Amino acid sequence: MNIHEYQAKELLKSYGVRIQEGIVADSPETALKAAKKLNAETGTSWYVLKAQIHAGGRGKGKVKETGSNGVVLAKKLEEVTDKAKNILGGTLVTIQTGEEGKKVNKILVAEDVYYPGASEPKEYYLSILLDRAKGCNVIMASTEGGMDIEEVAEKTPEKIIKEWVDPKVGLQGFQARKVAFKLGLEGNAFKEMVKFITALYNAYIGSDASQFEINPVLKTSDDKILAVDAKVNIDDNALYRHKDLAELRDLAEEDPLEVEAAKSDLNYVKLDGNVGCMVNGAGLAMATMDMIKLSGGDPANFLDVGGGANATTVEAGFRIILQDPNVKAILINVFGGIVRCDRIANGVVEAYKSIGDIPVPIIVRLQGTNAEEGAKIIDESGLKVSSAITLKEAAEKVRAAIS
Ligand code: GDP
Ligand code: MN
Repeated sequence: MNIHEYQAKELLKSYGVRIQEGIVADSPETALKAAKKLNAETGTSWYVLKAQIHAGGRGKGKVKETGSNGVVLAKKLEEVTDKAKNILGGTLVTIQTGEEGKKVNKILVAEDVYYPGASEPKEYYLSILLDRAKGCNVIMASTEGGMDIEEVAEKTPEKIIKEWVDPKVGLQGFQARKVAFKLGLEGNAFKEMVKFITALYNAYIGSDASQFEINPVLKTSDDKILAVDAKVNIDDNALYRHKDLAELRDLAEEDPLEVEAAKSDLNYVKLDGNVGCMVNGAGLAMATMDMIKLSGGDPANFLDVGGGANATTVEAGFRIILQDPNVKAILINVFGGIVRCDRIANGVVEAYKSIGDIPVPIIVRLQGTNAEEGAKIIDESGLKVSSAITLKEAAEKVRAAIS
């Protein structure tokens, strides 16, 4: 589960990670109030307005309606209201959102931390994630902060520092110092970076995160180290023990069909193809998607209805698939191991009747216990549904349906 920057920064702060302070706002008026409050609390007289969407690249991204960037600087209080107006309610398009962009419902009004001083402010990159192959957490750091890290990794991989942390042992002091040293820091900035990395690692473990990406981490002109941006991903499977974090879920940021599917306990992922599919079991679902590809189609979704599929789950699955305008045919592929094929067939027929006229052809492939009876129920239903027993037969019917 992803959370917004302002939520991520609050989480980090609660673990003692220094952040660029800010206050979230949902209207130009509250943005101005937030700026005044920040001025009183931090003394800042410049304000950074940052669109809160679940996507990066906001600084270079543009709001479709106004042309404003997704991160802008206001150099006086009088500019805050108008600049906030140009972002709030608009559609922000960044390299990560795709052309359709994302609606901005909130902005973070933050203090300016790039103020001049004894040295130039300098941006770094820092992330923590799980390295599945090594069974360790890995801290990645780079002096090339603020930029597209994928490009740095590709062109100058030597500029990415990696430090693996054994989860059983935890982060050791020398490891945090090693990273800070390799980043070329010294004096107070070095000490600050060690503190920053240590607190960040504690936050990562404490929140059961699967990814933290802080880009940029800033060394201010007076040698403070702080998080300017924060991308945090919490492991969904751990949310049951983080009720407070689970509440941060912003459904407006998620695919509406996926949200609806989750309510019916369906494992659904929206894809871009033209053949909707409904399958019991994730492995069979993957195989079915391959088969759709082989038949010349493209899967419109991944949908695993689970082991105990019945008329209710089948109907919920149908309704979700049918809301996708790209769907030209639906393939149901069920293996009757735990559940009997005749029960599934009855479920399909019932669901079909309850939804009414379904405008696209449906191919039902049932295999396993009572497969023949299941096929018979489908064929004799009088509905626009055809049965198949072998995968090959199902593939041919899909091909005929979409061509
Ligand atoms: P992203 O573009 O979505 O990754 O958003 P970031 O939070 O990383 O911000 C983008 C850029 O805004 C940063 O790389 C900075 O250059 C700039 N920025 C952020 N905070 C400040 C600030 O306090 N002062 C100034 N002058 N620039 C800032
Ligand atoms: Mn960033």
